[in-house]
Amino acid sequence: MPPQPGFPPQQGQPPQQGFPPQQGHPPQQGFPPQQGFPPQQGFPPQQGHPPQQGFPPQQGFPPQQGLPPQQAMHSPPPPVQEQFQPRGGAPPPIHPGQPRSPVGGFQAPPRSPGSPTGSAHGGSHGPGYGMPSGPGDAFTPGAQAPSHQIPQQQYGAAQPGDISGMTQQFGQMGMEQTQQQVPTVVLGGPPDMRMLDEPPQPIVLPHGATCTPLGPKTLPDPSYKRASVNVIPATPALAKKSGLPLGLLVCPYKSQLPGEEPVPTVGEIARCRRCRTYVNPFVQFVEAGRRWKCNMCFALNDCPQYFDYHPHTHQPIQRWERAELTQSVVEFIAPSEYMVRPPQPPVYLFLLDVSFPSVQAGVLDTMAAAIRSSLDAIPDVGGRARFGIITYDTSLHFYALPTGAQTASGEGEEEEEERDVEMLVVSDIDEVFLPRPDRLLTPLNQPGSRKSIESLLERLPSMFRDTTVVGSALGPALNAANRLLKSIGGKIIVIQASLPSVGPGALKARDEGKARSSGKESSLLSPQDAFYKNFAVEASRHQIALDVLTFAPSGYADVATLSCLPRYTGGDHRFYPGFNGSRAGDRAKVTEEVRQFLGARTGLEAVMRIRASKGIRMTAFHGHFFLRSMDLLALPNVTPGHGYGVEFVVEEDVPGPLAYFQTAVLHTSCDGERRIRVVTLALPTTSSLSQIYASVDAQTMATLLAKKGVERSVSAKIDDAREALVAKMAQILRVFKTQLTSTASGATAQLQAPRSIALLPLYILSILKHVSLRLGSSPVPSDLRAQAQNLLTSQSAELMLEYLHPRLYALHTMGPECGKPMEEGASGDHVVLPPRMNLSSERLERHGCFLLSDGQHVMFWVGREVSPRLLQDLFNVPSYAALPGGKLECPDGNFPEGEHEFNHRVRAILRSLRRIQSRDLVLPDIHIVKEDGDPALRMWFLSHLVQDRAGEVWSFPQFLQYLKDQLNKD
Ligand SMILES: [Zn+2]
Repeated sequence: MPPQPGFPPQQGQPPQQGFPPQQGHPPQQGFPPQQGFPPQQGFPPQQGHPPQQGFPPQQGFPPQQGLPPQQAMHSPPPPVQEQFQPRGGAPPPIHPGQPRSPVGGFQAPPRSPGSPTGSAHGGSHGPGYGMPSGPGDAFTPGAQAPSHQIPQQQYGAAQPGDISGMTQQFGQMGMEQTQQQVPTVVLGGPPDMRMLDEPPQPIVLPHGATCTPLGPKTLPDPSYKRASVNVIPATPALAKKSGLPLGLLVCPYKSQLPGEEPVPTVGEIARCRRCRTYVNPFVQFVEAGRRWKCNMCFALNDCPQYFDYHPHTHQPIQRWERAELTQSVVEFIAPSEYMVRPPQPPVYLFLLDVSFPSVQAGVLDTMAAAIRSSLDAIPDVGGRARFGIITYDTSLHFYALPTGAQTASGEGEEEEEERDVEMLVVSDIDEVFLPRPDRLLTPLNQPGSRKSIESLLERLPSMFRDTTVVGSALGPALNAANRLLKSIGGKIIVIQASLPSVGPGALKARDEGKARSSGKESSLLSPQDAFYKNFAVEASRHQIALDVLTFAPSGYADVATLSCLPRYTGGDHRFYPGFNGSRAGDRAKVTEEVRQFLGARTGLEAVMRIRASKGIRMTAFHGHFFLRSMDLLALPNVTPGHGYGVEFVVEEDVPGPLAYFQTAVLHTSCDGERRIRVVTLALPTTSSLSQIYASVDAQTMATLLAKKGVERSVSAKIDDAREALVAKMAQILRVFKTQLTSTASGATAQLQAPRSIALLPLYILSILKHVSLRLGSSPVPSDLRAQAQNLLTSQSAELMLEYLHPRLYALHTMGPECGKPMEEGASGDHVVLPPRMNLSSERLERHGCFLLSDGQHVMFWVGREVSPRLLQDLFNVPSYAALPGGKLECPDGNFPEGEHEFNHRVRAILRSLRRIQSRDLVLPDIHIVKEDGDPALRMWFLSHLVQDRAGEVWSFPQFLQYLKDQLNKD
């Protein structure tokens, strides 16, 4: 196969599937019956204390003694203004306490800086960036001007947040400031990369929004939940008129970063008796605090005694210190009525392809060793974890393992005997039965069974070393696994190294060229056989999740079909094209990633439900789950790092000044506790279109549109999805122009946009050029496309933004602070990063060395006139000619360590990026792209520079021009 332009040189490539409509929902399970909440006897017998001691002030009540001051009400808005000051300009005036948002009321405290980008970038604008280097400083030849300076032409002239600037601009536009307070920009030059790392729009809550004093955790961190608009249209007509996509990105079980405070747990559960909403900071206390009024349905509920009295000691406690009344992200410990059976133990059943292609490519060898070395990482509290393995080629091989109970006798001889694992071969793959079903799963950490597991994994490669069997009975292996697990549930980890070819679920290589030439490329993204989806839906019913690791050592793997397995069961899909086990770097990557995902604290046997205020209805969900009923998502596993896109509509008037969205994930923790993680978001409602436009969260909107686009590319055509994205972008700008500017119709010289959506065109263009939806003269191999679509479908907003719009850094001009810890003495996990660069080849320099990363891949672009000193210090090679292009051989999977301090700093940057961009779940492969090297590799690199023209697809300025022309045509 010729080198695929725009891709890493891989042999062979494949296609993909989608999500057909989810019909035929099985009965709901998991949430307790509606009447499950015992009526709480309202209040302790404290007659004679009318306003009860221990309540926060309520409207209509005087402030009470002993209350914490409500100083959070006047926290200044996040200091984002200064980031937009032109370089060298005077610092902007800061107006503490002066809300920027037109919405009345007080400013919520800044949401904690949990977003990956925010924290890592604070110090990125170090001194000396872009300055001509002094002698002996950095690697820039002295005479070179800093051609990749922050562009002079920024988005717009107005300084956002600077009221006087806004007034001036509105003045120029001849508008009434009182009416239209949408901070506006002119879309023209290159986008300001610093905006990508800004926190989302602040949420401004009106007075009296909460039942306890406002605190830093009253609203959820955006990494848990964020909305495409931070002000909700109060009426269906206004929502329609806005033309904006309304939705949420939810990541209730996000992976915690080191140092991050754990989610508080709450031992008692209070829910609305009418609508089952969990109590949260936005309920209101009434009747002197004896009852609480539900914020969703306004029903009155009695306050339980434990709000004010410790349930065991009966001593008075402070209501406003309770986590569920002060924090929007909490985890309730569920009592037995939330269980239909005892909590599921963590079960890990591996299905391992041992056919000739798997052995030959080193997949079996690598995976057996990777699993073995990861056994200690698997969470196993109380010795509950179970382990099993089934191997398969054209037959199935079962392994009867000693059970932990038998070895408890502790007699050495017996233990020795039981370490012998019995292999049982079943050749009848049509009617699969389980030989020794009692011994196919064994405790992971009983001494005797553990030794047997390790010994089996050690011996597996040699057992199949000389195999000549070609063919893979994945379908029968899945059926056997289902039989084994269906009574207890668990996780099946499929390791597949060839196209399934035997029994149910056998697949054929698809003719990609033919499908494309006949305009049916989308068919390559759909499953070719219904077996996998049907299997996954059945598995979901039994609380079985599937993670699939697809290796494609030599060609087409049909990622599109296989990824049905994780898609409907909450699992993960990993894809290793061109895997070669004889390369240390390939082995290291797989080993590290397997260790990470087997070690992850996954939620088990979960259901997720999203409630919203009256008038708001959820209409679509995107992610890895099975939609069991209108709004109930079944998730045998809740995989950390996975996010869920939710679309909603305003179908009736939303009552009240706030709209609420509450996500509840009932799950079993891997420690065996039944828990409910609840995330509650409150957003103001409005009848003003300008307020809605000013509140847009462009990043959330972009991720939501990308998820929709992926779905549409499968259900319809890729072209349809692309056109819909462009049309939506134009519509948003059109509504703004016709409704919110003075030039409602007619041509304008400039393209005006609300500042809040300034980044949206860039993200839309990034989606159009992303491998998941790209079209053009060089076809995208369908396996790569399908996997990219899997990622976009399942990723959290944080990871998705990195994947859609990569980071580009100039290493040859970065300041001496880059790659050093953010603070003196801090850990090296978060280091100062260089300034982020525009993704445009205009920024590349002959004498430069650039780093591009999207969370999945890292590329070093090296110009041919790069300083030999840099090459020596970074790559340990003496010259450009001596630098090998292509995939970098990294024996331990990481960038090779050198002696020079520059090498250490670049490695620190790569470590930091890995945490930010993939939460450490991925160990990216590293490529060296030489300016005059392999053309395919160069094109692959350039395909990430989304601001450039790519074939028929616009450059960023062309895209803006197109949008402007569309509007001027009206
Ligand atoms: Zn209610």
